[in-house]
Amino acid sequence: MKFLKYILIVVVVTWQGYAQSEDEKQIKAIYETALTQSKSYDWLNYLSNQIGGRLSGSIQAQQAVDYTKAQLDSMGLDKVWLQPVMVPKWVRGTPEFAYVETAPGITTNLPICALGGSVATPLQGIKANIIEVNGIKDLEVLGADKIKGKIVFFNKPMDPTLISTFESYSGCVGQRYAGAMEAVKYGAVGVIVRSMNLRLDDYPHTGSMGYGDLEVWERIPAAAISTKGAEFLSATLKLSPNANFYFKQSCKVYNDVESFNVIGEIKGSTYPDEIIVVGGHLDSWDLGDGSHDDGAGCVQSMDVLRLLKESGYTPKRTIRVVLFMNEENGLRGGKKYAEVAKNKKEKHVFALESDAGGFSPRGFSFDCSEGDFKKVKSWGPLFEPYLVHMLVKGYSGADIGPLKDDGIVLAGLRPDSQRYFDHHHSEYDTFDHVNKRELELGAAAMSSLVYLFDKYGVEKTK
Ligand SMILES: [Zn+2]
Repeated sequence: MKFLKYILIVVVVTWQGYAQSEDEKQIKAIYETALTQSKSYDWLNYLSNQIGGRLSGSIQAQQAVDYTKAQLDSMGLDKVWLQPVMVPKWVRGTPEFAYVETAPGITTNLPICALGGSVATPLQGIKANIIEVNGIKDLEVLGADKIKGKIVFFNKPMDPTLISTFESYSGCVGQRYAGAMEAVKYGAVGVIVRSMNLRLDDYPHTGSMGYGDLEVWERIPAAAISTKGAEFLSATLKLSPNANFYFKQSCKVYNDVESFNVIGEIKGSTYPDEIIVVGGHLDSWDLGDGSHDDGAGCVQSMDVLRLLKESGYTPKRTIRVVLFMNEENGLRGGKKYAEVAKNKKEKHVFALESDAGGFSPRGFSFDCSEGDFKKVKSWGPLFEPYLVHMLVKGYSGADIGPLKDDGIVLAGLRPDSQRYFDHHHSEYDTFDHVNKRELELGAAAMSSLVYLFDKYGVEKTK
C-alpha cells in the first residue's frame, strides 16, 4: 500500500513537471511570436490614423466595423460575423466655447468640452454666476438658496495618493455622471465638471453623463473643463466670488441607429460548445482617436486568436474574439452579446477583456469562484518571467460584465495604470502615445492566459 502511494506521488510529480514545462514552452512561443510577428500595432495604426475617433453611430464607427471584420476575414478563422445592435447617436456639433468674466468685458477663455449625452446650451449660450463644490454631497449643504439660477462647478480632483488610478477615478466620476441630474434639483442652470485627469493640462476629458428620470425640458447642459482650467477657475472664484461663467455647446441626441459587434472564432477541437471570449470595445469618444481607449484592447484581442494559431496551438475550446460596440455611452454591445448568448443557450466558460489602455501588462483581475482563483494563482510562476505579477480578485470589465453567472470566470487585463487618465476620453488619446512593445506584451499576456484556461478549463465544467 505504502509502495503504491509512493508510485502515485512519483507519477503525479513527474506529470506536473512535464505539464509545467509544456506550458512554459507554449507561453514562450506565444511571447516570441507576439514580439516578432504581432499585427496589433499595424491594426491600431489603421484604426487610429486612417479612421480616428469612433463614437457610436458615427461614420467612423461603421468604418471600424468594416475594417476589423475584413481583417478577421483574412485570418483564416472558422467563422466571422457581425451581430446587429441598436446604439445611441449623440453628436458634439460645433466646438464648445467658455470663459470666466470677473468684471464686465474682462474675460479669460477656458478649455471645455460637452459631456457625452449632454443637451446643448441655448443658441446664444448660458451666462450665469458659478458656484464651486467639492462633489455631489456639497449640493445639499449649500441648498437651493445658494444654487438656484447658477452654474455648478464640480471640482473634486482625483485622489493622487491612490496607486490604482482606476480607484481614484471611481472616487470622483460620480460628479461627472450624475452632477447635472443632482444639481438641477437645486435649480442649477448648467454644470461644469473638472476633468478626470491626475495631471494638470489643457485637455478637457469627456465621458458619459445621464439625466435619470428628468424630462427633456428639465435637462441642463453639462461640460468638462481641463484640470488647469479648473484650477484657474477655482483661484479666480476665490478672488472674485461673483464672477460670471459663460459657455456654449451645440451637441445633440438623434434617434438610435443600427451598428454591430464584430465577432470571429476558432472552433474548439475537443469541447467546441465551451466558449472562451476575448474582447475590447470598438467604439471610442470623438476627441482623440481612441488608441488607448479602447483601440488597444480591440487589436490585442484580435491578435490573441492569431498568436495562438501562429505559435502552433490548437485550442480545445472555442475561442471567440468580440469587438463590442457602444461601451462608452450605452454598453449596448455588451448587453446584446450576453442576451444573444443566453437565448442561444451558449456555454461561456471564460471571458477576458482588455479596456485599460495599451500599457505594459502588470497582471489580471478575476471575478470568479475561490476554486478557480486558486488555480489561477498556481499559474503565477508561469507569468513571472514576463514581469506579469498581479493576479488579483476584482472587477473584470464593462463589456463582459453582462455574461456573469456561476459557471464563468471573468477577467480583465491590468496594464500599468499611472498614465492612463492622462489620455482617457481626451484629445490626448492618440496613436503616438501607444508603445508598440508594450501593446504586444499585453497581447502576449492575454494569449497566455487564454491558452491556460483553454487547456485546463474552469472548475464548474470539469
Ligand atoms: Zn474603454
